[in-house]
Amino acid sequence: MPLTGIEIFKLLPKTNCKECGEPTCLAFAMKLAAGKAELSACPYVSEESKAKLAEASAPPILPVTIGVGDRAFKIGNETVMFRHEKRFENPPAFAILITDTMEESEVNARLERFSQLQYERVGLTLRPELVAIKDESGDVSKFEALVNKVKQNNDSSIILMSKNPDILAAGLKSCADRKPLIYAATEENMSIVADLAKEHSCPLAAKASSLEKLALLTTKLTESGVKEIVLDSGARTVRRAFEEQVIIRMSALNKKFRPLGFPTIVFPCEMTDDPMKEAVIASMFVAKYGGIIVLSDFQGESLFPLLVERMNIYTDPQRPLATTEGIYEIGNPNENSPVLITTNFSLSYFIVSGEIEASKVPSYLLVKDTEGLSVMTAWAAGKFVADAIGPFVKKCGIEDKVKRHTLIIPGYAAAESGGLEEELPGWEIMIGPRDASHIPAYLSTWKS
Ligand code: SF4
Repeated sequence: MPLTGIEIFKLLPKTNCKECGEPTCLAFAMKLAAGKAELSACPYVSEESKAKLAEASAPPILPVTIGVGDRAFKIGNETVMFRHEKRFENPPAFAILITDTMEESEVNARLERFSQLQYERVGLTLRPELVAIKDESGDVSKFEALVNKVKQNNDSSIILMSKNPDILAAGLKSCADRKPLIYAATEENMSIVADLAKEHSCPLAAKASSLEKLALLTTKLTESGVKEIVLDSGARTVRRAFEEQVIIRMSALNKKFRPLGFPTIVFPCEMTDDPMKEAVIASMFVAKYGGIIVLSDFQGESLFPLLVERMNIYTDPQRPLATTEGIYEIGNPNENSPVLITTNFSLSYFIVSGEIEASKVPSYLLVKDTEGLSVMTAWAAGKFVADAIGPFVKKCGIEDKVKRHTLIIPGYAAAESGGLEEELPGWEIMIGPRDASHIPAYLSTWKS
């Protein structure tokens, strides 16, 4: 059982030094008990107390890492039921299903879609993460061959799916270095599959037919030394799966019920035969509370909205999406190209850069760090004004790139033009359009 706030308090130094950011040790203890603080924030806890506090300070939903290198991703570690309470931490991963009874052409087509379907949006690459390789044939060599094929085809992370521990062992022989998710330990095969997970240091999915049985199973797995567990409650109807996702999250966060304090895996691919319904079900699990979402196939028209939904839900609601400050070259500009400036609110950047691209006039776009605020908001907040823009233009290096020093500022920041002429001697300040959609017409008059 996790420790209460008072029990934690007894183990703290009780000096109220405030270095953890809390006014008292008691306040820190209460936050720790609620899973809203990290023990490492207090530098004075003794080693002995640390060991005792490890249980209380562990996140209510333990993180699980699948994969290695650039393609590794983390699920779990969530601390809230609702995004507006703080934020959701680790986006769910999307997996495409392939089986060892599929025609080779179908396997190839799915792997091709897995690799091809990725999108650039607001400076991020949106793409799926996992290939779920399922044993349907019961044939060890067929499964192993398929695992090898996936491994050679791409660097994706992998789920190995079989009821048979021998087949899972064969798959692991081929791809343990990718740190795949082993699916799944059940009541029947628990000890053998747990040994595989420990031997290869891989995360393990636990599957049972009810939440009660699942809690018993994860308790046994944890006692046997398996640390990274992913939960499958076994539900394959939409309603039951949805209810159980909510119950799992509530039990872990509100009741601190450790046996269900792990991320989950869900299977929209087993809940309907209709691809669009499957996408709708998947979208529900993006919001509530799938850790891995396994789809029967990927199609651009359903995958893209899911990726965008995921991106939107897993952004921090307290922080606007921001682009990195700097000089962006659009369409191979040269020393005679125009120089425009905007703020680093991602939406502003992408709309402005898109319109510049549409104008077909090669340009430099300067992006000024305004803490993710849009032009008008940043201007009103004093972050996009002459004495902030001027020093940025001087230090960003644009003066070395262009011969003609003409800076085009957004129409909404027109009031800064006078101040900028003072801040940037030698620069001509031009007032651009207020609305980005007018940029192509505006730039069409540009003469190098
Ligand atoms: Fe107490 Fe540690 Fe926080 Fe200091 S840093 S107030 S000792 S909990």
